[in-house]
Amino acid sequence: MRNPSPLTWSRRCTTRGIIFLAADVVVIGGGIIGLTSAHELLRRGARVSLLERNCCGKEASWAGGGILSPLLPWNYPEPVTQLTQFSNRLLPGLIEILRQETGVDPEYQACGMLVLPNLKNVQSAQYGGAEAWCARNAFSMKKVRVEEIAPRLIFDEPADKSALWLSSVAQVRSPRLLQALKRSVELSGGVIMEHTKVTGWRLGRGRVESVITDRGEYTGVNYVVAAGAWSHEILGEHALKLDIHPVRGQMLLFKVASGLLRTVVLQNDFYLIPRQDGYILAGSTMEEVGFDKNITAGARKTLLEKAHKLLPSLTEKTLVSHWAGLRPGSPDNIPVINRHPAIDNLYLNSGHYRYGVTMALGSAHLLSNMVMNNPQPFDVTPYQWPA
Ligand SMILES: Cc1cc2nc3c(=O)[nH]c(=O)nc-3n(C[C@H](O)[C@H](O)[C@H](O)COP(=O)(O)OP(=O)(O)OC[C@H]3O[C@@H](n4cnc5c(N)ncnc54)[C@H](O)[C@@H]3O)c2cc1C
Repeated sequence: MRNPSPLTWSRRCTTRGIIFLAADVVVIGGGIIGLTSAHELLRRGARVSLLERNCCGKEASWAGGGILSPLLPWNYPEPVTQLTQFSNRLLPGLIEILRQETGVDPEYQACGMLVLPNLKNVQSAQYGGAEAWCARNAFSMKKVRVEEIAPRLIFDEPADKSALWLSSVAQVRSPRLLQALKRSVELSGGVIMEHTKVTGWRLGRGRVESVITDRGEYTGVNYVVAAGAWSHEILGEHALKLDIHPVRGQMLLFKVASGLLRTVVLQNDFYLIPRQDGYILAGSTMEEVGFDKNITAGARKTLLEKAHKLLPSLTEKTLVSHWAGLRPGSPDNIPVINRHPAIDNLYLNSGHYRYGVTMALGSAHLLSNMVMNNPQPFDVTPYQWPA
């Protein structure tokens, strides 16, 4: 069902204050994970309301680069591979629907990714070696000379100037994808409550009765926490052994003539992402500094040096922005997509760490299957809530 009847909130004044009623599912958090969850639940006919502390799509999801693949995909465990590949099969269809429905183009493009030496990390692949992994997962990889793909890049090693070409890797412009998703959720009858901060829970008989916010309480049949790096904080004592914590990532943005670079380039942990209109993103740092989202002069200097060395056209003069976001870090980059072990109507979709944009759509599908008692496409036990 595409257009469920719009939600009508009824207000009830009680001794506890104002309680807002209605919604089959209350989603908490308006990043890529909350918005795709709301979008998928609405598509299946649920009445959905989403609570967001600030404005939707302004935290990690906005800060991200939008590469739709783990950087070296063979270095991640099977549950990451399964979820990223599942999502990547679904995403082009969603992009087309969003473009037609909202008029916003999320700029999905299969631009490929060039992996430059040092290729040490390729040889020491943890999960069976790059070539074997690519063959097993039908993932295109070939050795190329760098100038065939990106003639403007400068680097010294190795002498034959070879690199790995992953032609199927795509990218999306994250802020535009978020904008399109938000609009689509609203067009589909979802209610988005911005500037509404969740502060606690009212529980009874092993169920959530309502979620407490700074603007009153909200009730629903089911509740989904999708609050990224803040998920643990929101759940409080109900987080149990959940290990989701903030990991800061800083990014630079340059503006050059379009066409200077046409593919994502990765060297060790540093990457360049070219957009169609001449913007190039350079990132990113991995910093365990708690909820500190400040940018630093040190990170700017390091990222600028790396960018300049690889693509000399990128100079201080072409630098237009510098920002930071807080990734929802998790062990092995495996998110939790599951019902709470002790609270019947409480679900979590969080902990997507470095690849939340990539994994969002698949995660929304798995979550919606759980909430609506539909069968899963594969074994979902790796995404369990650690009790
Ligand atoms: C620099 C950087 C580069 C990245 N690059 C990529 C990439 O190329 N590809 C990729 O796939 N991923 C990338 N990522 C990772 C990706 O961005 C994240 O995994 C993803 O955005 C997580 O989405 P989320 O919705 O869980 O979290 P968020 O986007 O952080 O959303 C959480 C939302 O919850 C809200 N919230 C928090 N507390 C409350 C509360 N109490 N009440 C109500 N709402 C609340 C927040 O305001 C926020 O809007 C990158 C991340 C960073 C930082």
